[in-house]
Amino acid sequence: MACKKDDNTSTDDTTSTGTVITVDAANFLTSTGSVVITTENKTLSNGTTAPCYKIVTKSIPADHAMGPWCPTNISDDASKGGIWLSGGNVYDVDGAFIKNLATFYNDATWQMYNVSTGVITKTATQADCAAAANPNVGAQYKNYCVECLPSYVSSVTNTFYIPITPVKQTSSYTFATGPGGASGPSSRGIAFDGVVFDAPAPVSVILAAYTIAPFDDYGAHINLAAGYHYHAATGLTKKIAQTDGHAAMIGYAMDGFAIYERLSVAGTEYTDLDSNRGHTDSTRGYHYHVDKAGNNNFINGLAGAYVK
Ligand SMILES: [Zn+2]
Ligand SMILES: [Zn+2]
Repeated sequence: MACKKDDNTSTDDTTSTGTVITVDAANFLTSTGSVVITTENKTLSNGTTAPCYKIVTKSIPADHAMGPWCPTNISDDASKGGIWLSGGNVYDVDGAFIKNLATFYNDATWQMYNVSTGVITKTATQADCAAAANPNVGAQYKNYCVECLPSYVSSVTNTFYIPITPVKQTSSYTFATGPGGASGPSSRGIAFDGVVFDAPAPVSVILAAYTIAPFDDYGAHINLAAGYHYHAATGLTKKIAQTDGHAAMIGYAMDGFAIYERLSVAGTEYTDLDSNRGHTDSTRGYHYHVDKAGNNNFINGLAGAYVK
């Protein structure tokens, strides 16, 4: 399973797993300095040691702006807010959505705006962000639209390791999605702009506190620990088109297998996906297709070894 350090674009044929495509570091957007990639040997979850890409990211996307998240007034249109994910659907968080929350969730406790001015109640400072954008939402933020701004996390960096040559295992790894979860990693993968494809947002916790923490149109929001992170693939980040009508590539999973959009160019869903949302073809080898944006999810597990 050896792979040469600079062998970025080749197809390595192995007898055990068929076509295996190595991670191509050149696919990442490194020109702004937000993403720095080096090579390091690391121990994988299957006990072997393998060359890996060490990806140090500021999580500042070079391919698009960040935000907006919370609109300011119930009269604001969709350009002033982000999106919310519910029941498999994507909703624009415009002023009307905020105004309608009590009806949307069939619960009269929702009242996130001033009835006389229409001004939406939202977090305003980094301290608000720290208290409201975490799983233990402060009680004083009931009926707040929660948003954290890029300026709060300008010094955050995150480091991820991805095996350069993915190694498919006989059984898959499930993700650790919270305290006491499964043994796998929490992060699902990384987009080409260096922003992580994160675990599903804890929407039930957010809603239980009568808050919403919208995602921007790119499917991301910010917390102080992770910085800017994706919870949905909305099709607006760098993608690599395929020549055969297959869905475009949007990043890599933590096991080094590539992640593609959900639908083919013709708009069809792939019906032969395994429980991880992966399948194999002769051009791309094993790879994943992301879940619907409205499902607050990317992929369901890792077929390959990852860096512990
Ligand atoms: Zn989040
Ligand atoms: Zn495919």
